[in-house]
Amino acid sequence: MIKKEITELLKLRDVDQGQLFKDADFVREKYVGREVYLRALIEYSNICRKDCYYCGIRSSNKCQSIRYTLNEEEVLEVAVVAQKQKINSLVIQSGERCSNEFVDDIERLLKVIAQKFNNQFRVTLSCGEQSKDVYKRWYDAGGVRYLLRFETSNQSLYKKIHPSDSKHDFRTRLQCLNDLKELGFQVGSGFMMGLPTQNYDDIASDLLFLKELDVDMVGMGPYLPHNKTPLFASEEWDLNEKINVSLNAIATLRIMMKDINIAATTALRAAAIDGRSKGIRAGANVVMPNFTPKKYREEYYLYENKPLVYTDEQMTLMEEECVSGQYILKYGEWGDSKHSKHSKQNRIFL
Ligand code: SAH
Repeated sequence: MIKKEITELLKLRDVDQGQLFKDADFVREKYVGREVYLRALIEYSNICRKDCYYCGIRSSNKCQSIRYTLNEEEVLEVAVVAQKQKINSLVIQSGERCSNEFVDDIERLLKVIAQKFNNQFRVTLSCGEQSKDVYKRWYDAGGVRYLLRFETSNQSLYKKIHPSDSKHDFRTRLQCLNDLKELGFQVGSGFMMGLPTQNYDDIASDLLFLKELDVDMVGMGPYLPHNKTPLFASEEWDLNEKINVSLNAIATLRIMMKDINIAATTALRAAAIDGRSKGIRAGANVVMPNFTPKKYREEYYLYENKPLVYTDEQMTLMEEECVSGQYILKYGEWGDSKHSKHSKQNRIFL
């Protein structure tokens, strides 16, 4: 598909949008089936060295007075809860930290999880930009999937939503994605939709960029403002527009990259009460219920209206969302992306 065609698909509404979802559903059924895979999300720490203008846990947000890190015991308790729910895949997400202590802790955690649970869990890491050596250590310790969104592939927009310093450099992010691929990770990436000044062409380019990266997994969703961040004042997209473009992006990407895993993201659920089920109907095949211990839930507040529902309740909701759309919530599986069996180890150059 060329960019112009993608842009047109992103703009579809009403009956035509319904047809796009049907087309995507056909592809989904054929290539990845009707299963929806589960990942238990653990928000490991809200301490972050970055200062992204859109994110609630940015280091300069002094209103975020509580900064926490889970200890090993707390993570293992979460894993036990996930195990009871027959969820065999964990995502450890964190604010970006690069201290030796942090790197060691994640490495040890991965080893302990593998050992204690007899390699029962497939673990995905989402801990930001790290050196290739660190990625290698974590890979060897068992964290073989990695999520790192590029946020936007429009470099001038990237500069607008991040401070201009060496810590927030688009090229570093890309280097990290290349390193992860080279090391053999199953790589996930993605971006936000509805950023100030972003347009439909930009989003079409983002989808093409995912294709070029040949990712195995995708998490993409609406940008949602947080009132204690610098980007809050520049809000300009209508919420419905963001939801519609996010759904159309899922459907279009399903048609473009047939056998990858696409998540119905928490941001989509935060934007609309039925966001997750609509995401699944549009072509998403992964959901990530939040398993962060209750007492820390409110502290990993990336954007406003982030859902804070409790584990049992959200599992019931997910069941309903899937069954009503005739999808099957898949317990007891790792749910590796089918694409990862033949994705290319290609490097991306700017
Ligand atoms: N430190 C990790 C995890 C970041 S949080 C990393 O750098 O990868 C995970 C994702 O949340 C980010 O990649 C970003 O796309 C998303 N996010 C952050 N703030 C957001 C906001 N205001 N609205 C929507 N999504 C947001």
